[in-house]
Amino acid sequence: MKKYLIRNCEIANFDTMTTSTGEILVEGERIQKIAPKIDAPEGCEIIDAAGMLAMPSFADCHTHLAQSVLKGPMDDYPITTWLVRLFGIEAIMTPEETYYSCLLGCLTALRCGTTVLNEMTGWEALDETIHAVRDSKLRATIGISTTDVPENEATPILSVDEALRRSEGVYRKVHNLDGRMKASVAPAGLPAVSGRMAQELKKFANEHGLVYHTHLGEGKMETRNVAKAYGLGGEAEALAQLGILDKNTLLAHSIWLSDHELDIIAQSGANPVHCPCTNLKISDGIPRIAEMVKRGINVTIGCDGEASSSNRDMIREARMAAYLQKGLTLDPTVLDAGTVYKMMTINGIRTLGYEDLGELKEGNLADFILVDMDHDIALINPDYKLNNFLYAGDGRNVDTVFLNGEILLRHGRFTFIDEEEVLAKATPVIRGLNRKIMNL
Ligand SMILES: [Zn+2]
Repeated sequence: MKKYLIRNCEIANFDTMTTSTGEILVEGERIQKIAPKIDAPEGCEIIDAAGMLAMPSFADCHTHLAQSVLKGPMDDYPITTWLVRLFGIEAIMTPEETYYSCLLGCLTALRCGTTVLNEMTGWEALDETIHAVRDSKLRATIGISTTDVPENEATPILSVDEALRRSEGVYRKVHNLDGRMKASVAPAGLPAVSGRMAQELKKFANEHGLVYHTHLGEGKMETRNVAKAYGLGGEAEALAQLGILDKNTLLAHSIWLSDHELDIIAQSGANPVHCPCTNLKISDGIPRIAEMVKRGINVTIGCDGEASSSNRDMIREARMAAYLQKGLTLDPTVLDAGTVYKMMTINGIRTLGYEDLGELKEGNLADFILVDMDHDIALINPDYKLNNFLYAGDGRNVDTVFLNGEILLRHGRFTFIDEEEVLAKATPVIRGLNRKIMNL
């Protein structure tokens, strides 16, 4: 059994926003011991982490990996044009283009300290998504987006039976794969999903113990249309009436919600996924995250697809979340750094059903990061590392990533995959896709 002793790291405490110097012993896939000083057991590898921040790795709770190479060609379009263009591009992507897009997304996440993804993909992209997640060794919950109401001219229309058949296919293929993947159901969102499809997929999710991952209240006009169609105050009211909202439901965006709907979400235990970079870049609007936190709602964070966010770095995403709420409420005390760190870690991890991840704790699976703040002239301040990683740093400050007791990143370099080789292979694939997009 492989053993590592991490010496002299600064162990983060998100409750007190302090660190304490300590050591972490990893044996096999788990954290065996955390203490101020640990005697090195025989045969263990010593990792000198003097001065490095140690904290749980991040859970990115809303991703569309196949969009990872669409940063650039999807910039600066209004939402409706953006959606139609996205469907058009995804329809012409080859399996090789999809694979490299997903792989680059996964590796960027890992490079920036994320070890758990909650992915919503397309049926056609499923195999390449699984392949890329596997090659990057990440943990992921994977569901396929299904739609049966024409939100725009490009919305794919499925029957409810076909959506169930596909969700069953994902479940059989993905659930418990390599001990690192889980299946979900992932209907796109009520503007493009009928009540019946939502309910049937929720039933399937309940029967199989899966999470229900969907978009909620992202577009202002679309949300109004749903409210009108259901004769209710909003989209969350409609989801509640359909019986969708509970602790196993993830609600990406959650922007256009009334006070009453925030109360409904709080009572239900459902989990909004805040995606601030997307919300700003494609002008969705700004969700009232501070109000949600005040109500005790379990808010998580997601980087969304890079076609809309241009970002797969949870630190950048989380900083945006904090700044936005401080500006929106004119109250700098809301979304304090400790709260935001929990949103990035334990809140997302618990929502996705993991019991023994998300905290640096003896007995937990060894998923954590070591962050180097001492070799960056912009960040050097030994006493405020935890604050400065969130407010002034970025994912590139992550030095080491442990996942399941294995070191996947060390001194900012992948240990299991040749980054130069990936870049050399991916570059011509991306350029080929760019040329096809230009001719659309
Ligand atoms: Zn999304």
